[in-house]
Amino acid sequence: MKQFVCIILISIFTFTGYAAASDKELVVYTARKEHLIKDLFEKYEKEHGVKITYITGKAAVLLQRILSEGSGTNADILLTVDAGNLWQAARKDILAPVESQILKENIPSHYRDPENRWFGLSVRARTIVYNTNAVKKADLQSYEDLADPKWKNRLLLRTSKKVYNQSLVAMLIATKGEDRTAQIVKGWVNNLAAPPYSSDTKVLEAIAAGQGDAGIVNTYYYGRLMKKNPDLPLGIFWADQDDKGVHVNVSGAGILNHSKNKIEAVRFIEWLSAKDAQKMFADANMEYPVNTQVAPHADVKAWGRFKESTVNLSKAGQLQADAVMLMDKAGYK
Ligand code: FE
Repeated sequence: MKQFVCIILISIFTFTGYAAASDKELVVYTARKEHLIKDLFEKYEKEHGVKITYITGKAAVLLQRILSEGSGTNADILLTVDAGNLWQAARKDILAPVESQILKENIPSHYRDPENRWFGLSVRARTIVYNTNAVKKADLQSYEDLADPKWKNRLLLRTSKKVYNQSLVAMLIATKGEDRTAQIVKGWVNNLAAPPYSSDTKVLEAIAAGQGDAGIVNTYYYGRLMKKNPDLPLGIFWADQDDKGVHVNVSGAGILNHSKNKIEAVRFIEWLSAKDAQKMFADANMEYPVNTQVAPHADVKAWGRFKESTVNLSKAGQLQADAVMLMDKAGYK
């Protein structure tokens, strides 16, 4: 009889536990592509019994949707790429500040909003790539050096319309000042071997084809392309090692002001910042984990260690408008 009661108690406990958990749901609006998050979200569902529903879209479209849905939105979390986009979301006042010791411990301070409204979850390095047949590593130095006339007709860049370049130039303004940055960007434009490309991958392919000798891209695009075609004559160079370090950016998340599940949403983002999830989150896109306790994927590690800029990424947002204007004036299309 004792055993019987015991079994009933266990099954009641298990049943109520499961029933309560399966009621929970989080809605994520994500500019991060489905194939990069699907497994991760499923893992959380299995481990925590919280259903994760998501819609994917471009960062600007998702932001507009959240604004127009207002307090009626079902979304709990905005997950997007680039600190410039996260900063814009915070500025539009759609993100709630979150006090979490776990997030503070897992995420270095330059990767998160000083006002705790958004948190970086993976790190991307935007650095110099070069054609290994045309350029020696010793010839490379910094973003600034690519403005030197010795690179005339040798430089290839992605369009200035992409937020990645807006953030890069904003961070240059933050560290070198507006006048010097204007000179650098004008120098880049003067050195272009072809009009700016629409994607980082196109920049890489053009450099590999010898249409230019060097360019600036996010390293995961290099990783993807080299995986497909390991024989391409492309190398990575870590920029600004004698200066502030490589320009880095994040993909990251914030919790919406109008979320009805804030406690559950915080738990989910905390989980994303912890060891297991960090490994999956970064490895899926050949990025770097934000959590310094977690090592990058072996293929990414093979690119070598580098010093990164530790200027807070909120600067990428604060100086975004200045960067756009400066690039426009410099004739950087
Ligand atoms: Fe990208």
